[in-house]
Amino acid sequence: MTIVEDIQAMREIIQDWKHRNSSIGFVPTMGFLHEGHASLIRKARKQNDKVVVSIFVNPTQFGPNEDFENYPRNMENDTQQCDKEEVDLIFAPCTKEMYPDPTYAFVDINQLGNSLCGATRPGHFRGVCTVVNKLFNIVMPDRAYFGEKDAQQLVIIQQMVHDLSIPVQIVPCPIVREKDGLAMSSRNSTLSPQERTAARVLSKSLELANNLMMQGETSASVIRSQMKEKIQLEPLATVEYIEIVDAQTLTPLENVKGDVLIALAVKIGNTRLIDNYRTHLEAI
Ligand code: AMP
Repeated sequence: MTIVEDIQAMREIIQDWKHRNSSIGFVPTMGFLHEGHASLIRKARKQNDKVVVSIFVNPTQFGPNEDFENYPRNMENDTQQCDKEEVDLIFAPCTKEMYPDPTYAFVDINQLGNSLCGATRPGHFRGVCTVVNKLFNIVMPDRAYFGEKDAQQLVIIQQMVHDLSIPVQIVPCPIVREKDGLAMSSRNSTLSPQERTAARVLSKSLELANNLMMQGETSASVIRSQMKEKIQLEPLATVEYIEIVDAQTLTPLENVKGDVLIALAVKIGNTRLIDNYRTHLEAI
């Protein structure tokens, strides 16, 4: 396995692979790899000749008061994980390599980027779109793998690739969860034992929503308020948002029908966690 830190070296390797007609699968990450990331890598391994994992904590997608500095990092462990999953190449650039001063060009996304996480994290998806675009231009993958855990990110990347005619196939991958239902996340490592227990409330509230829908509840506001009540019973949890939206357009729904996405962001202590549940309901 090769570890590459600079763009020029990447270009030479990628060019060589392209000459050999090797297909390239790409898994962009911010590192501190866990089983969620591993599931993306395994899928990429099955579908491509070469697998590239990028490890880059992207400063432009963090707000001024967010956890960029404290985001968990462990390159040694990440390298071992990638080796185990038979990754061909890790691209791990430093910030200067990705953003040499001065940088004027960004990729922005209207509409889809302003709701849900975008409402509380202004500029977040501009940072995500910009870095993913740069990474696509460097890695030039045939397929890129994104987790459904970041449902809004996935919709946005699919839209960006469509709108900008980027020649890559986006492959969505299901959410990987801990045994108790908590969606795996690098940020889970920052939870204290009490917070870790409290964090179960995210997936439990999504289970509650699912049960309500199974019992025939169709009102999005009823489902949202019951979820909110459940989360508020947990003293360590603060709801940032709970939204019930159309899974493709991300527009809010009054009644749950069609492709429904229930997405939430909750702070557990100082750690911001997200989760979601996607379902298809026939109109009654
Ligand atoms: P991150 O390192 O958190 O930026 O995540 C890198 C990629 O892994 C993104 O496409 C995420 O959606 C995906 N991912 C993170 N956690 C999970 C999970 N629990 N299940 C599935 N995919 C995940």
